[in-house]
Amino acid sequence: MENIRLDNSVQYLKGVGPKMSELLNKLGIYSVKDLLEYYPRTYEDRTKLTTIDNFQKDQNVLFLGTLVKPVTMVYARKKKILSTVVTDESGAIALLTWFNQVYIKDRLKEGQTYLFYGKVNSATGARAMLDSCSIYDVSQIDKIQGLYPIYSLTAGVTQNYLFKLINGLIDSGVVIEEIFSDEFRKKYKLAEANYALRNIHFPKNYNMVTTARNRIIFEELFLFQLALMNIKEKEIGSVKTNYYHDLDESDFLKLIPFELTNAQKKVIEQIKGDMSSNVVMNRLIQGDVGSGKTMVAAIAMYLAVKNGYQAALMAPTTILANQHYIELSNYFSKLNIKVEIMTSSTTKRQKEKIINALKNKEIDIIIGTHSILEDNVEFNNLGLVVTDEQHRFGVKQRMNLSAKGNVVDTIVMTATPIPRSLAIILYGDLDLSIIDELPPGRKPVDTCVVNDSYNQRVYNFLRKQINEGRQVYVVCPLVEENEDLDLNSVEKLYQEYKDEFKEYNVGILHGKMKNKEKDTIMKEFKDNHINILISTTVIEVGISVPNATVMVIENADRFGLAALHQLRGRVGRGSAASYCILKSNNKSALSRQRLDIMRKSNNGFEIAQKDLELRGPGDFFGVRQSGMPEFKLANLLTDTRILEQTQEAVKEIVKNDKHLKRQENQKIKQVLYKKYGEQLNNIVG
Ligand code: ADP
Ligand code: MG
Repeated sequence: MENIRLDNSVQYLKGVGPKMSELLNKLGIYSVKDLLEYYPRTYEDRTKLTTIDNFQKDQNVLFLGTLVKPVTMVYARKKKILSTVVTDESGAIALLTWFNQVYIKDRLKEGQTYLFYGKVNSATGARAMLDSCSIYDVSQIDKIQGLYPIYSLTAGVTQNYLFKLINGLIDSGVVIEEIFSDEFRKKYKLAEANYALRNIHFPKNYNMVTTARNRIIFEELFLFQLALMNIKEKEIGSVKTNYYHDLDESDFLKLIPFELTNAQKKVIEQIKGDMSSNVVMNRLIQGDVGSGKTMVAAIAMYLAVKNGYQAALMAPTTILANQHYIELSNYFSKLNIKVEIMTSSTTKRQKEKIINALKNKEIDIIIGTHSILEDNVEFNNLGLVVTDEQHRFGVKQRMNLSAKGNVVDTIVMTATPIPRSLAIILYGDLDLSIIDELPPGRKPVDTCVVNDSYNQRVYNFLRKQINEGRQVYVVCPLVEENEDLDLNSVEKLYQEYKDEFKEYNVGILHGKMKNKEKDTIMKEFKDNHINILISTTVIEVGISVPNATVMVIENADRFGLAALHQLRGRVGRGSAASYCILKSNNKSALSRQRLDIMRKSNNGFEIAQKDLELRGPGDFFGVRQSGMPEFKLANLLTDTRILEQTQEAVKEIVKNDKHLKRQENQKIKQVLYKKYGEQLNNIVG
């Protein structure tokens, strides 16, 4: 075995060098390991050897041919044309041609037999013609006959180049590490790592591809889930320390001006079930925009407090935290429950006071943004953590609070429908509640898709609405130093609307404003002093202004459908008919299809499902936002069967050897830290 180390730069491999190395970098290939993990995106079927008499026009053929004459070269139209004639056992002949590849003159010898692969240009009777065939020595037949890997390329890197490079590397005897024991592999029916590697690149048939893929995907998902478990530093099914003796929420219910929906009631019963069990609660609540998740959270927090615990509610933005605070403190104050808010706009002094009060249990419920996660915040006896609009938190942030000492009950609320398989992988072993019903009286939001040619008609429509006393949101994607993107920046849009609607109050709201300014603007809008609010997606989640009936979304094609649906959920909160106008000049079929989904459906789950089908999960969740990793092969949506297996395997490992101290788990531990070490250290260390 040659001494090739996996973390060596590809530059030093035979046949690479500085120039090719730069091109490979473009494909994300830096180290030898990256190269080995550069898996084919598909395969070309070269499993059958064909004889020349069987050739058909346009067919791709693999065949053995013997040269009946030497290669000749002629010039024609500035091209060097090389050609020869081959025959085989069938006696038929094929004329082979190449352009400008002068080396072929020496490569092929009269009377010798070679293996060719190429596309048949024409085939008539016993005579065929082919251009630009690939040439291999007959001794290579074992390697070539099978499924030929097709890699994603970049200019200057050819299929053949990658084939030779990876093939040569594997042939040189380079070995990747097998992290699973024989016993483990047997249990989960996993191929050995090097076997899988060879067969993902150079499989003989599709069964082998499946075997190899399963193994590689298993490892990817297994390591990720194990990392998540470790990050959580939380035992599965921990026995909890908090004990609930009183699960009667009727005093709270008396205060709210409406009847809970059946779906809300059902979820509250599920939460009470968790609270009365001796296992820590880990529950994900999914409910469409406007389904009333906040109330469910409030009741859970009420019960926690009633039983002597503190509770925390985290929201992704200051505005949303404020809104929760205003709505909930109204109820809680009547029950003598002390609620405080802490966000990035809380002054240092106030913060210190709140931190002290939390420690001394003078505060029962804290509502806030991420700043609740800051290290110096200590609770007296935290029992419940509710995280709102979970999909906007990274995995890392999410774990922080749970890692704050005690084992606490957690509720995560999201309007983004996450398939169960994904929920498991992102949140670990959790229970899922779905609020599949909206409060009565909600009307679907009438949605249309228009381009700029409709501007004047849109303006007229807005005037009509405002004259009826209604309010309008106009949202555009945030431009962050990215002026070259053809996006309407908020400022520009603000000016446009101000010029157009001189008779009305137009307000602006964006992420770069101070929190205080934002709050003022939001309040003015709530109080109907602003007729049209131009904003970035800072209003995306949770805000409730029932008098707003129109949502205009500029460059709608730049948003994920989940985000569009959230935005649209800002209107249709009152009794009046509501409208959503999606503006887009994008003419691509995909863009039109996506916006059409919005036009046709008001159901978040349906929209999400369709969007997933069109775009895949990465886009939908926003990989960076959710902290979700990109896998080399695994697909969280389609590899659910493997996901279930890895889930089981991870559970087993955590149960028997939580800190990975056992001999047989040492390699897993090493690779785990190599791959996810940064995150693991940040949180555990
Ligand atoms: P989301 O699930 O999107 O977070 P919210 O909790 O913000 O929804 O609820 C949206 C609005 O519906 C709020 O104004 C809330 O007070 C109201 N609401 C919640 N539950 C009900 C109900 N059962 N009946 C009527 N209105 C409700
Ligand atoms: Mg909400």
